[in-house]
Amino acid sequence: MSRPVVVLGATGSIGSQTLEVADALGMEVAAVAALRPSRRFAEVAASRPDARVIVVGGSSEDRADFESAVGRRVEYDAPAVLDASATPGAVVVNGIVGAAGLRATLATLEAGNRLALANKESLVAGGPVVKRALQHGGEMIPVDSEHSALFQCLQGEPPEAVARLVLTASGGPFRGRSRQSLGEVTPEEALKHPTWDMGERVTIDSATLFNKGLEVIEAHYLFDVPYDRIEVVVHPQSVLHSAVEFVDGSWKGHFGQPDMRIPIQYALTAPARSDSPADPFSLAGRELTFEEVDRGTFPALDLAFVAGRRGGSAPAVLNAADEVAVEAFLQHRLGFLGIADVVGLTLDQVEWRQLDSVDDVLEVDREARGIAATLVAGSC
Ligand code: MG
Repeated sequence: MSRPVVVLGATGSIGSQTLEVADALGMEVAAVAALRPSRRFAEVAASRPDARVIVVGGSSEDRADFESAVGRRVEYDAPAVLDASATPGAVVVNGIVGAAGLRATLATLEAGNRLALANKESLVAGGPVVKRALQHGGEMIPVDSEHSALFQCLQGEPPEAVARLVLTASGGPFRGRSRQSLGEVTPEEALKHPTWDMGERVTIDSATLFNKGLEVIEAHYLFDVPYDRIEVVVHPQSVLHSAVEFVDGSWKGHFGQPDMRIPIQYALTAPARSDSPADPFSLAGRELTFEEVDRGTFPALDLAFVAGRRGGSAPAVLNAADEVAVEAFLQHRLGFLGIADVVGLTLDQVEWRQLDSVDDVLEVDREARGIAATLVAGSC
């Protein structure tokens, strides 16, 4: 329990909940990092006088205000994030949004630290590179609720015993809607998620089912299970967080309150368990339902399977194009159905290649963003 905790993306949904959990566990917070010198981050930093404080963006004026609010030295360069990720013996909670989290993921693993991975994009975009970084003795524990569930179900099980991974999906706010009716959906409607409280991009990705697609790729890289043995089932109550079917016909599932503090805490304490940070949970009186994904209405899931099977650069292209398309949707520059269209076209237009280094990943990311941005501009 004495591991220092480094929180990257400290003001985001995962970061805030991590700080809450770490405080309740009495863990030392060694560093907090955020993109912007916001008032919220100043409060976080001021309340932890022993933590390193790192801000990557912001104007010099904002930084000056921030520093006086924090009341001590603040570091402003991106390399400081990587240096903090290498804090000896640390568990690094990577809650950075988007492919920008990749370098921190690698720095954590290369230092032999524990990575509590909430930044699924770094694994989706840089899977082959991240896998190689794991050879330095670091470990990766997923924070994503589905993957935390699968990780826990797989403990003590040999790989050849696993028949299938079954990821559950809430179905998002538009479950049951026809494709036609989704044409006029606004960002405000898409931001209302039925069961999970999350950041903006992941909430839109849940509405399109892109999030589930990214999670399929994440599961492939985390657990080395081929795509034809990974399935998705819609489970609107978000109580079964995922399940594993074994070759003998046995199933293991992970149930509990849909509360991100549970998988966050597990990533900090594993294999030990501490008292629940969430409300009490009981199965009695609950009705759990399961249904097939409507793949015609939500084409994003199949696009992710296509990209995952192509491997190499394809998942990085998928991720980058989706980041651009979601941003455009949030800014009313692209329709809801346009998100998957832009991603599919970008996937076809960026030439496939192998990924050997972080520079390869970032180059593919840049190229895909450029093409996706052009497609977005051409669509309005
Ligand atoms: Mg998830």
